[in-house]
Amino acid sequence: MVYQFNLFMKTSDKFFAINPSNDNKLEGEFYNATKKEIDNAVLQAKNAFAIYRKKSKQQIAAFLIQIGEEISNLGEALPERCHLETGLPIARLQGERTRTINQLLLFANLVLEGSWVDAKIDTAIPDRNPVAKPDIRQLLIPIGPVAVFGASNFPFAFSTAGGDTASALASGCPVIVKGHEAHPGTSEMVAKAIKRAIDICGMPEGTFSLLQGNSKKVGQELVQHPEIKAVGFTGSFTGGKALFDYANSRPEPIPVFAEMGSTNPVFILPEALQNKTKEIAVGLANSITLGVGQFCTSPGLTFVGKSKDADIFYQELKQKISETMGVTMLTPGIKKNYELKIDKTKSISQVQLLSSGIETTGSNNAIANIFKTSISNYLNNPELSDENFGPSSVIVESDSKQALLEAARNLKGHLTATIFGTPNDLKNNPELLSILELKVGRVIINNFPTGVEVCHSMVHGGPFPATTAPNSTSVGSGAIKRFVRPICFQDYPDDLLPDALKNKNPQKIWRLVNGNFTQDKIES
Ligand code: NAP
Repeated sequence: MVYQFNLFMKTSDKFFAINPSNDNKLEGEFYNATKKEIDNAVLQAKNAFAIYRKKSKQQIAAFLIQIGEEISNLGEALPERCHLETGLPIARLQGERTRTINQLLLFANLVLEGSWVDAKIDTAIPDRNPVAKPDIRQLLIPIGPVAVFGASNFPFAFSTAGGDTASALASGCPVIVKGHEAHPGTSEMVAKAIKRAIDICGMPEGTFSLLQGNSKKVGQELVQHPEIKAVGFTGSFTGGKALFDYANSRPEPIPVFAEMGSTNPVFILPEALQNKTKEIAVGLANSITLGVGQFCTSPGLTFVGKSKDADIFYQELKQKISETMGVTMLTPGIKKNYELKIDKTKSISQVQLLSSGIETTGSNNAIANIFKTSISNYLNNPELSDENFGPSSVIVESDSKQALLEAARNLKGHLTATIFGTPNDLKNNPELLSILELKVGRVIINNFPTGVEVCHSMVHGGPFPATTAPNSTSVGSGAIKRFVRPICFQDYPDDLLPDALKNKNPQKIWRLVNGNFTQDKIES
């Protein structure tokens, strides 16, 4: 099947996708969206919002399912194009496509079930003394057009039809995606699949738009547009913080849900280190190098207590890393940033390069690099805890429990923290567990942080600087809560209330009625 690119006005401001494995231009010309196209997309989204937010839960669920079907109908042409644009292996992309379709299904089911609107009802007590109690009912409603920034490292699951888009559409908000410049062909294929779903399901035209661009201007104008009401983003700290600042300097500031990465500290406690020295070393090496380290949950920092077991652990880790081959990174820019940060780490005194992978040819191939340092040196060089997006990690050797706890207390916000420990280790380290709870969105015991389950209880978020919104998650059904706000209706006639709040509870959802969760109707 031949795909037509170029949904946009042809101007001189064009760009091409680059194959990161050889730096060659790929087929297809793409154009930076003009100011007029941005205005048009946002205006259409605004108009669509009035209609889309009134669609029934069955209609919205059917739309999300249809998007999944249309993505599936793209067949192998989708992962093939994406492979050329990102260098990611076809098998990984096939798996990510399945995850993306499953995310859409998760939100379709959430919407169909309906209780996510968090309906709360306090019925009136007209004869209460000294004043009558009014009838007050609350639920969550969508906030309006959402701008989504596609991520380079998840071209399906965090891009055009990824988790941000799925959760915003599920909540009743139209979406405008700023496609990532690294995979514009992939973005357009998926955008066309969404457009087909819009036509089939009879949704208003502006429910979804894709704006292409390799210029910061496109993203800036989109975020600053007065009709955009929220932003979803996954990428660098610099990018996320810039968008956050644009959003907050608007006459009407808006929320920005930026997931900006993290170093995901790992703590290996003494008994676990002794019992599973090799297993943890091999697992850690695999986790660091998975996907060339291009995961926001990649473990970039590991704390180990000084001991004979630690010396064996280093040998195992060294051996395993030295056997890994250099692999193509997503973009020349990401490769350049990775190398710059490796050089910077090498230049810090008392930081030892423990092991490196095997160099391979290829324009943007990167090898793994593992460093080691003492906890005092780590505490004196805070930049060692900064993310280096790629297969790199710093092992910090601690000589006392106090120093380890100080390092934990000094951590900034991260997406995850991992502890390897036996029941005894965990019992002996309650302070560590307690400190980490305040530092991250997900604490993991005896497993590696790479791999994020998409489910109701997942939190993929955390305190700043991991995100700009510590009270949110960008993965799992909780992601829908980012694009809604609570509204309450006081003394409303029953027939004017949304179905979720009506006395008869026609949707049979769970509601908090006078303090008790129930699916029952309210006797009027
Ligand atoms: P990025 O530079 O943050 O860009 C992501 C998106 O945001 C792109 O569409 C980009 O637009 C836009 N953007 C960035 N800065 C902007 C600004 N000031 N104004 C308006 N739009 C802006 O991420 P990337 O290109 O994927 O990779 C760059 C670095 O980000 C990597 O080297 C890595 O360090 C980090 N990263 C981290 C994660 C993670 O999950 N932790 C994921 C991906 C990347 P343009 O491209 O058009 O400028």
